[in-house]
Amino acid sequence: PYEHMQKIREQNISPSLRMYYKKPLLLHQGHMQWLFDYEGRRYLDLFAGIVTVSVGHCHPKVTVAAQKQLARLWHTTNIYMHPSIHEYAEKLTSFLPDPLKVVYLTNSGSEANDLAMFMARLYTRNFDIISLRGAYHGGSPYTLGLTSVGLYKHSVANGFGCSTTMLPDVFRGPWGGSHCRDSPVQTVRKCSCSEGVCHANDQYIEQFKDTLNTSVPKTIAGFIAEPIQGVNGAVQYPRNFLKEAYQLVRERGGICISDEVQTGFGRTGSHFWGFETHGVVPDIVTLAKGIGNGFPMAAVVTTKDIASSLAQNLHFNTFGGSPLACVVGAAVLDAIEEDGLQKNSEEVGTYMLLELAKLRDKFEVVGDVRGKGLMIGVEMVTDKTFRIKPPMCINKKDVDFTVEVLNTALQKHMERAAAK
Ligand code: PMP
Repeated sequence: PYEHMQKIREQNISPSLRMYYKKPLLLHQGHMQWLFDYEGRRYLDLFAGIVTVSVGHCHPKVTVAAQKQLARLWHTTNIYMHPSIHEYAEKLTSFLPDPLKVVYLTNSGSEANDLAMFMARLYTRNFDIISLRGAYHGGSPYTLGLTSVGLYKHSVANGFGCSTTMLPDVFRGPWGGSHCRDSPVQTVRKCSCSEGVCHANDQYIEQFKDTLNTSVPKTIAGFIAEPIQGVNGAVQYPRNFLKEAYQLVRERGGICISDEVQTGFGRTGSHFWGFETHGVVPDIVTLAKGIGNGFPMAAVVTTKDIASSLAQNLHFNTFGGSPLACVVGAAVLDAIEEDGLQKNSEEVGTYMLLELAKLRDKFEVVGDVRGKGLMIGVEMVTDKTFRIKPPMCINKKDVDFTVEVLNTALQKHMERAAAK
């Protein structure tokens, strides 16, 4: 079927959807951390549909819940009452601290971030939103203005009324920078900290202040950041950066948005949400990907006060909060709890980070290993970063297999380089 599908692809599918592999994998089945091709070959999935399949492919509990709801009621639009949206809103917000208790359900991460920006602007009556270099916040025309990573940045995106200011590329370097970060693996080049003060952080905060003072002194609506930059390669900020940045933004009347599209739902291991690892409480959080284990759904959660800014007019989307999405979302939360997946992310993720660090010490092409829980980046010094973000149900045996395969590949790479 491969050639046939390739032909259809060329004729009927947008060329902007590029394949990562020379001969793309033709997958047709999945079970937990495993994917299967037509020949019955089994693949360990270390990317989880781009950090989406949080609890495992076709997780039995989520699948049964979806099947039951499919036979009962799929969709009504959210102008009618149905129990699942109420049950889900209550359940989802029970995982969030006060005052983040009001939910608006959308269909994708981009849509959630669009809405978050819109709310920030309505609430503050200001316009400018700040994002960080290396961020990915979406592919919609609005959120593209916030996105600055690699090929995703389109030159026309700034024409869509999104005035975004970005920091210089301070968090990445060939060896992952040299700041103190919240990871079991520290950078090779140590930070020049003294008495607990991270000088790298001071430097970054100064740059952030400059941006605020010069670009948006009186017009800041909000600041959006991922707790760990996902698409950019699990890039982590210096330990206190986000906390101090939040304070500076709030002093100037802006609100703070945490994009938890990749870091939410226990992936970082130590906490359920990425913002908790920075000791901050945002004014708005945006959720997608892992929220539905692959089912298209997303959410914005905010305070009563900020949510009310949207109530001045009717704001509507057709599919958000469908009975099916809400039932799937609730089953995902149950699966995370019942299967102990946050704890597993921490244990298996830490084990994986430490094992990968051994590869970094052995092979000079591996410049940096970083991340937290099952949100891991491996930086190749002479090439790009690759990301490891598997379903949170993987185990230590899977890690051993991964590290063994990487070790073999790196060994071969070194041999080839030496022969040249
Ligand atoms: N925010 C982050 C942090 C993301 O990684 C992504 C997707 N890669 C998005 C937002 C956009 O989500 P979606 O593709 O569902 O629109």
